Amino acid sequence: MTGYAAPVRDIRFLLCDLLDVSQQLPGADLSSDIIDPILEAAATFSREVISPLNRSGDEAGCSMPAPGEVRTPAGFREAYQQYCEAGWTSMGCATEDGGQDMPFVLHGLVAEIFSGANMAWTSYPGMSNAAYICLAANGDAQQRKLYLPRIASGQWAGTMCLTEPHAGTDLGLLRTRAVPNMNGSFDLTGTKIFISGGEQDLTENIVHLVLARLPDAPSGTKGISLFVVPKFLHDDDGHLLERNPVTCGSIEHKMGIRANSTCTMNFDGARGWLVGEAGKGLAAMFVMMNHARLGVGISALGQMQAAYQKALAYAEERRQGRAGAGGLGAGPDAIIRHADVRRMLLVQKAYVEGSRALIAWASLQHDLAHRGDAEAGERLALVTPIVKAFVSDCAVECTSLAIQVFGGHGFIRETGVEQHLRDARIIPLYEGANGIQAMDLLGRKVLMDGGERLRLLARDIAGFIEQESGSEQLRPLLSELGSAAKTLDMVTRQIAKSAASDPDLVGSVAVPYLRLCGHVCLAWMWARMAAVGHAKAGSEDPVYADKIATARFYFACLLPEVRSLAVQIEAGSAPVIAVALSHSNH
Ligand SMILES: Cc1cc2nc3c(=O)[nH]c(=O)nc-3n(C[C@H](O)[C@H](O)[C@H](O)COP(=O)(O)OP(=O)(O)OC[C@H]3O[C@@H](n4cnc5c(N)ncnc54)[C@H](O)[C@@H]3O)c2cc1C
Repeated sequence: MTGYAAPVRDIRFLLCDLLDVSQQLPGADLSSDIIDPILEAAATFSREVISPLNRSGDEAGCSMPAPGEVRTPAGFREAYQQYCEAGWTSMGCATEDGGQDMPFVLHGLVAEIFSGANMAWTSYPGMSNAAYICLAANGDAQQRKLYLPRIASGQWAGTMCLTEPHAGTDLGLLRTRAVPNMNGSFDLTGTKIFISGGEQDLTENIVHLVLARLPDAPSGTKGISLFVVPKFLHDDDGHLLERNPVTCGSIEHKMGIRANSTCTMNFDGARGWLVGEAGKGLAAMFVMMNHARLGVGISALGQMQAAYQKALAYAEERRQGRAGAGGLGAGPDAIIRHADVRRMLLVQKAYVEGSRALIAWASLQHDLAHRGDAEAGERLALVTPIVKAFVSDCAVECTSLAIQVFGGHGFIRETGVEQHLRDARIIPLYEGANGIQAMDLLGRKVLMDGGERLRLLARDIAGFIEQESGSEQLRPLLSELGSAAKTLDMVTRQIAKSAASDPDLVGSVAVPYLRLCGHVCLAWMWARMAAVGHAKAGSEDPVYADKIATARFYFACLLPEVRSLAVQIEAGSAPVIAVALSHSNH
């Protein structure tokens, strides 16, 4: 079985041809001279260091050699040290923290390469990066000085401690208490579950970002504050002191990402410090969660890419039956010649490359927003739940299709393709389940602002259609794109009209609505990629003709789902609410 090969050519296509990032982000130095060696180095590290640990890590999982201690699988620690030494942990961090201040559009696509090679391993530094962003946005000067350079270098890790046994989606129910001390610190007591990297053996210290309640806090989400709780206490210069009473009680045994520790964390009067304002913890944590949502969309893309690669290689090798009318020669044909296998591979290719384009575009909006472009910030807010939920749903579908390409061999662990489905399956669940993302999109991002953000996206798409209207070759795609955008506008208006009088409407239609939005975004990306392909007609590089052909497949075979989604949405809440569902009825 061939090893993981990073999709460097496609990433270059997006950065240089589609988005022209060096023009879009002047001063960031994203010339090919900078981008190419970074992508090549990421490809080498992923191929040589972490991809070889993917299967063994899955087989071994994490273990607890002694109470409170977690051991990651063999090789993880050494790989992490190499990763830190090569400077990958600090790629997106600010220069004053020892980082390289690379734009997210590059950093995010490099993260895809690492995730595709080994999602469980990559989730350790991924979580630290999210903690860095949260502390950079919300920490005071002392906290930033202490924690940011250490997280940027990879010396210390970060975690996100929200979930409790009775408080998952509904964080307003959380009970962890923070009692103030005379010296300005707090003692935290409570239990957090499912904490990724809550304990590990990769770093000398772990900085937990914990949501908890002050004694006089109101109930619900308004009473939640954010605290930083280090595993080892430290002096003002970061020298480690005694162990803080925050310990790992157990680790979960999971379907996927088995090499990433998922910990029950017990806070037994653990010393912590307030981050940001009291009572504003959830808003502070949302900085981290929004970033993490893009991050998990990126890891979903990595899993789709890795599974697709395996399926493609297998379909070229495996010989069964005769393809088409009569086939060729005496022997059986490679299964890639069968139309249905081609269809399965093309579904994967179209979702993988379309999602990568969407993620690259969203990451560019992130960078533009950081430079003060308010509209880019609005675009990013709109597409973040789409990147998280649409891309992770596609990842589950595509990794399952990759298994289908392998036939029964895909079900056998030895071929390695089933791990991608098991690993990808967590992504629709964590960082806000996909159903919640859909309600965030429809309820908060679309209806609550009167459709303003959606109109911005509609204007972007209409502007592109107008700009390309002279292109004879693109005309059919532009017409379908325009009609999908119109369908989205129509269903949005229908929902907006009825939502106030039907309290079940948003919940009933949010998931098909998000999928419809995902298709409109992907159709826009595929039409843009096809436009680049046409502009480069005659080039010897096959990537351009390949984009045109794949765009045609996407428009012919996948985008039509928009029509059935619209029908589902038009049916409203009645079919969902009418059936009496009860366990006791069965
Ligand atoms: C491997 C793994 C790693 C994790 N890592 C972390 C971590 O690092 N830090 C952390 O804090 N947490 C972490 N989590 C927790 C994760 O974020 C939660 O599991 C997730 O938020 C969902 O919460 P829940 O499991 O309690 O499900 P529930 O909230 O009980 O939801 C169950 C189902 O009901 C639906 N639902 C719930 N409420 C509503 C509603 N109001 N409207 C409509 N539908 C609703 C959900 O969409 C879901 O389908 C992790 C979980 C796992 C499995």
